[in-house]
Amino acid sequence: MQITVDSDRCVGAGQCVLAAPAVFDQDEDGVVSLLTEHPAADQHTAVRLASSLCPSRSITVTVQQD
Ligand code: SF4
Repeated sequence: MQITVDSDRCVGAGQCVLAAPAVFDQDEDGVVSLLTEHPAADQHTAVRLASSLCPSRSITVTVQQD
């Protein structure tokens, strides 16, 4: 799994941080910052939830096929 975030779209709602605090953080302006582009497997469900909750669709999740 690879995550990208579009900080220009982020409106600072913080849903991602609430859903997956090990993966997402917010800077002093409330804009999302990514703690890891490749989260551990035990974070994948939380990351998908964060992506679905983000009101600005700033979080893109890509899953590589093996
Ligand atoms: S949920 Fe979306 S809009 Fe809110 S802080 Fe996270 S990336 Fe930004």
